[in-house]
This record gives sequence, C-alpha cells and structure tokens, in this order.
Amino acid sequence: MADAVATGMTPATSPRLPDAVFKELEIVRDPTNLFHQTIEQVLMASQIVGLRHHQQIILAQPANEIMVHFPVLMDDGHHDLFKGYRVQHNNALGPYKGGIRYHPDVQLDDIKALAVLMTMKCSLVRVPFGGSKGGVKCDPRTLSNNELMRVTRRFVSAISNQIGPDYDIPAPDVGTNARIMAWFADTYAQMQPERDRQDTLRIVTGKPVEWGGSQGREKATGQGLVYILKEMLPDMGIDISRMTFSLIGFGNVGSWTGRLLAALGAKMLAVADHTGAIHNDGGIDPELLAEHVIEAGGVNDFTEAEAVTTEQFYGIPVDVFIPAALEQMITEDKARLINAKVFAEGANAPSTPGGDAILTQRGVEILPAILCNAGGVTVSYFEWVQNKSSVYWTAEEVDERLNTHMVQAARRAKAARKKYDVDMRTASFCAALEQIGDVYNLRGVFP
Ligand code: NAD
Repeated sequence: MADAVATGMTPATSPRLPDAVFKELEIVRDPTNLFHQTIEQVLMASQIVGLRHHQQIILAQPANEIMVHFPVLMDDGHHDLFKGYRVQHNNALGPYKGGIRYHPDVQLDDIKALAVLMTMKCSLVRVPFGGSKGGVKCDPRTLSNNELMRVTRRFVSAISNQIGPDYDIPAPDVGTNARIMAWFADTYAQMQPERDRQDTLRIVTGKPVEWGGSQGREKATGQGLVYILKEMLPDMGIDISRMTFSLIGFGNVGSWTGRLLAALGAKMLAVADHTGAIHNDGGIDPELLAEHVIEAGGVNDFTEAEAVTTEQFYGIPVDVFIPAALEQMITEDKARLINAKVFAEGANAPSTPGGDAILTQRGVEILPAILCNAGGVTVSYFEWVQNKSSVYWTAEEVDERLNTHMVQAARRAKAARKKYDVDMRTASFCAALEQIGDVYNLRGVFP
C-alpha cells in the first residue's frame, strides 16, 4: 500500500488477471498480436512471482517507441523512403540491448514483442542489460551491397541521438550480419565526433572479429542452444550424441546449431527454409549444406537429401525439433504434425498460442526462446566488455564463460519450475522476473 501511495498508482489487488492490466493501459486486446501474446505471458508469470502492480504495468509497455522514415538513394538514381523502428522496452538492469532486423514484414508490434523478450532474456542469463529491438522494413535479398550500406548508414543517422554505447546497444538479427554492424559502428563514429573513437565501437555488437568483434559471437546463439540441450536433455532421457533433430531455418542460428550438434554426434534428419524442405534418414551433413546455402541462397536443390513437402517435413520423427527461422510459424496444424519429444526454440516466439497449446497437450517438452537463444546476447555482452577494456579473449575463454551463463540460466529456470510448479516457458519468465522485481524493489521508481 505504501508503494501505491508513493507512486500514485493503483494499489495492488492480488491476484489480478492480465485482462485488468490490459484494460488499465487501454490496450485493445488482439489474440493474434504477438506483442499482446508476449505481454500476457509476462503478466501471468509476474502474478505467479508476486510482482507489484506498478512493476507489472511498467513491463506491460515499452519505455520508448521510436519510428523513423528516411530516404535512400538507390542504384538506379531514384530515392526510396524506408521505415525504421527502435523500441526500448526496459532498462532496469542496464543499458537497452537488442538486435536490428531487416525484413519486409517488420512492423511495430512485433518489434515491441521482441524487445520485451530481450528484457526477459538478459535477466534470465544475468547479463547487465535491459531489452530493446529494432528493424528496417526492407528486403535485404533484393538490395545491392551499396544500397544495403546506404540504408544502414541513413538508419543509424536517423536514430543516432536515441542510442549510445552506455544507453542502447544494437546487434545483428534476421537479415543483418557482422558487415552491417561494421557500417553501423563506422557511421555512429562519424555522427558522434565528440566521443572517443575507440569507445564508439561499443555502440553495436556482432561486429567482425577484425574490428572489435568477439571470438565466438557468430556461432554464439547456436552454441548457447547446444549448451542448454546438453544441460536439459539428460533429464529427459535423451543422449545428445545419439539424438536426431530437424531444423527450420538454416541462417545464423540454424546453421550453427546444426553444425555444433553434428560435431557432438547428433544426426540432422531434415531442414526447411524459405526455399523448401529436405530430408535424409541417414543424416544431412551440415557443413555441406552450409556451403550449398551460401551458393544457392537456400536448402532447395541440395543433392545429398531428397526434397519433401512442408507436411512431410513436420511429420519426420526426431528427438528434438528446433525452429530457428521466424516468429509464429508453428500454427495449430503444424503443431499437430510435429513428431518430436522436445521443441527447442532457437527462434523467438516460433509458435502461436494455439500451436503452443497443442504441443503441450501432446506432451512435447518446450524449451523456451528466452533460455535457448540467449547465447547471442551473452556473447554480445562479452564483446561489449572486451571493447570497454580493450582486452580480447580467446575462443576457448568465450565458450567457457558462455557455458557458465547458459548452464546457470537453465538451472535457474529448472528451480523456478519446481518452486512454482509451472511449465518451462512460464518458469523461465518467472526466473527472469524475480530479478527484475528485486531490482525495482531496491531502486524504487524515480522521483
Ligand atoms: P537469419 O536471417 O540468419 O536466418 C533466417 C532463416 O529463416 C533463413 O534460413 C531463412 O531461410 C529462414 N526463413 C525465413 N522465412 C522462412 C519461411 N517462411 N519458412 C522457413 N524458413 C524461413 O536469421 P537468424 O539470425 O538465424 O535468426 C533466426 C531466429 O533466431 C529469429 O527469430 C531471431 O530473432 C532469432 N535470434 C537470432 C539471434 C542471432 O544472434 N542471430 C539471437 C537470438 C535470437
């Protein structure tokens, strides 16, 4: 009650349904909206851990939503207008941190949802960052290298006063890579001449190793996922060195997960991406497939496996099914087809609420994204620390530190599952929210 008086906010009446928070914030609920779905999950978990009412409403909306429009000179001499976003959800634990996506379907509410997940992820793996996310609505596959560079430089110039090496630090995501992060850092350095040049490197992570990047960052999300599987699968009676798996998406996360699991002895039976789906019961060599994807642009026409339909792909029996492409791909019909013991989320929010419910009903163990794909942001944190100190770590040091963060996060989530008697997704949110609640209780709310 003292808290409600101090903040001038509605007193907590526990337990409150997420509906009440939605109503209070005048959010017109749409069950198909990814942001609303994500907030609902966070609010449900907030109630389980007993987060105070004002903390719930802070987390139910991003702190800042930035939308920019900027013109770019195209190769044929005309100008196109691009739309970009940066959403800063919460910085209770440290500077905002989150990737930049280049994709034709980029839209504000999805970016808001992904920013919320970043807040949760950073808290769960205990890196001292908050959560943000950004994107530019464009199709990088149709842009030339020069156009991609100009889009990046104009986007950075449009948001340069809203980000900073100690305030909001972007990183790669779908459709962006180390090269784009190098353009990002270079542009920011030009835009902020009063800042120390070396220090501006920290404006972005996921840079090339040759210029301020960390060893192990490129594979970090896949490596983190493998560390989580190593920690979790023995509890489910699955031997990682003999297991079978399928992947949707063979980009950064998918291809590294495939390669690292195969190196441990696991067999990759099937892969799907935006070009098609392939299957080989004898196992697909991820190294050969990665070479093919670089040349051909996708998994289609890979000669060492047979092409299968989407329906056949989902029905292939495997121990572990790993979505590593886009959000909301696993709808109810796809979830009914999946023939796996474990669903390990490399991608953020890969299933719809309906798909999620069906997987759960069918007894598939879901290992949630905020746990499974937190390796990327963890090594991004390492990169930021290395840039700050100008001392660079070996690949072995990075892997060892990453393993510690991932294993501890998995154990935290397992402890929360036991404590609150909930599924792993809810437990992972609970473990993240406990820390955020503790910090807010200590810091209070300014003024
Ligand atoms: P990426 O751009 O490297 O790869 C994306 C993959 O998705 C490609 O293989 C593409 O073919 C596939 N894809 C796109 N549309 C598809 C469709 N309709 N059907 C099937 N496949 C399709 O992206 P990424 O960096 O590997 O990111 C993948 C997921 O992992 C995203 O959800 C992203 O937010 C998440 N993630 C990435 C990182 C990271 O470090 N890159 C970190 C955490 C989470």
